[in-house]
Amino acid sequence: MAALPQLPSILSFEDARHVVEQHAAQVVPGDLESVGLLASLGRVLGRAVTADRDFPPFRRAMRDGYAVRAVDLTQLPVILDVIAEIKAGADSRDVPAQIGPGQAAAIMTGAPTPPGADAVVMVEYTSLSGNQVTVTRAVASGDNVVPVGSEARQDQVLLPPGLLIDYSAIAVAASVGRDSLLVFRRPEVAILATGDEIVEANTQPGPNQIRNSNSYSLSAQVQAAGGDPKILGIARDEPQSLRDRIQQGLQCDLLLLTGGVSMGKYDLVEQMLAGCGAEFFFTGAQIQPGKPIVFGRANGKYFFGLPGNPVSTMVTFELFAKPMLEALAGMTARKLVFLHARLKSEIKTKTGLKRFLPGMLSGEFERGEVELSTWHGSGDVASTARSNCYIVIPPDRERIAAGEWVPVLKR
Ligand code: AMP
Ligand code: MG
Repeated sequence: MAALPQLPSILSFEDARHVVEQHAAQVVPGDLESVGLLASLGRVLGRAVTADRDFPPFRRAMRDGYAVRAVDLTQLPVILDVIAEIKAGADSRDVPAQIGPGQAAAIMTGAPTPPGADAVVMVEYTSLSGNQVTVTRAVASGDNVVPVGSEARQDQVLLPPGLLIDYSAIAVAASVGRDSLLVFRRPEVAILATGDEIVEANTQPGPNQIRNSNSYSLSAQVQAAGGDPKILGIARDEPQSLRDRIQQGLQCDLLLLTGGVSMGKYDLVEQMLAGCGAEFFFTGAQIQPGKPIVFGRANGKYFFGLPGNPVSTMVTFELFAKPMLEALAGMTARKLVFLHARLKSEIKTKTGLKRFLPGMLSGEFERGEVELSTWHGSGDVASTARSNCYIVIPPDRERIAAGEWVPVLKR
């Protein structure tokens, strides 16, 4: 039987996260594929999107009002002759060739500012009578006019590769006339559940059996993070079964295993991975839930051995597997950041581990509040499903008083 990995490697949460980030920085994402603009939502951009012309392409009025020469507005009030009306989308023939001294043009937001005019005075500071407008407020040259190319020059990169495409990126792509985008292929993620007590979710479990929920929560998490989950079923706590499935899983871009990484006699996952030539980067992190998390590489493929308790599986995916998956999906690395919210009621825990406890973020507007969910440990998936965040508790805190600001990992 293969030897267990000789590693004293139970790392602090931060060190473990950094180890994953360092490896993630080295992975090469897959090929590119073309998808329709709306189908690109949530995908990772594979090739830069550039400006097809200057933005804005003309001197755009930012307000409804009058296009004027700022020098005409030094003595107030002033009366100007209105020589034209310029609508947004105006034909060039309807834009006066020049605004001369003492002249103005009525102008609408989004319309081209005519030559000679160097500012727009807002309609609120004017009153029109016949063909004459009285202006009661001065403007500086450039006020309420967006210069040509000030947002972007033609051919300038607007969206870089590696960007996670959201609604604002879709707006940019639409504004430069793109109806499809090149995105990275979704990485294939093998998901292998382990355990003699685990049965398929669509079967009736025996009295001491548990339905497989981890393969499904993980598939959902993989999909949400931009991956393509491949469920490999359930391996028995038995060497041959495990080894075969692990080999199969290592064909994918990333392998996620659940269960079998604790200290029990039948927790064989690490041994079997070692037998497949794995190197281990850590075999535990000082966190709860999720302490026995394993991270390594075999046959050039990364794997995570996630603890089997359903909440541990979820939390360790979010904290460790997700950045690796995002890197395989071509996404530019981002750091994990916690939000802060005010604690509604006191929390008491034990020291020693950084805790990620299911919580409920509530409140309104600038008054975010958070409260611990009542839960019964790392197996309590129902309590987690009714929560919407994890409250992060530092390892050195035994008691956190109501009213304190606490870090929160939003779901
Ligand atoms: P293990 O990490 O193998 O020691 O498992 C820890 C706990 O998680 C045990 O109570 C298992 O029954 C449970 N568990 C393991 N795998 C799964 C799974 N795929 N779905 C639901 N529960 C699981
Ligand atoms: Mg097990």
